[in-house]
Amino acid sequence: MQDRFAEKMSDPKARADTRLLGDFTGIYCRGKHRGAVRAPLASDGVVLGVYGRRAPVVCEECAELLVYAEQRRAFCPKDPKPFCSNCDTHCYKPAMREYMRDVMRYAGPRSMFHGYAVQGVRHLIESRNARKAAGAQSAAEHEG
Ligand SMILES: [Zn+2]
Repeated sequence: MQDRFAEKMSDPKARADTRLLGDFTGIYCRGKHRGAVRAPLASDGVVLGVYGRRAPVVCEECAELLVYAEQRRAFCPKDPKPFCSNCDTHCYKPAMREYMRDVMRYAGPRSMFHGYAVQGVRHLIESRNARKAAGAQSAAEHEG
């Protein structure tokens, strides 16, 4: 592991961001890659304890995404760092960017049930609430 990676990953913000990506990717992989062989992630981030006590359980492809995302996050040149989706520096290569976007789109709304409410997915919460309000008029529906 590079010293610089470890140093960058000691930043609580970088750790929190990376952990969130790990959680999201775990949710995505569990839902979308059901047939794949999945195993706890092995990465520099895991070694540094970024994901807490349990590493995200993912398939090989998703593991590759996370290893890539760890590196990108650790070496993000922006300070303060904007949300990746709002950033004008597209540091992800296109395929990975598309992959991560899929992960966010899939796991963002689902992560509400896991107790997350981060700004990055706030627009998803808002649209969900709007749908809920619309649905409440027609049916007595209870969630969560
Ligand atoms: Zn996967």
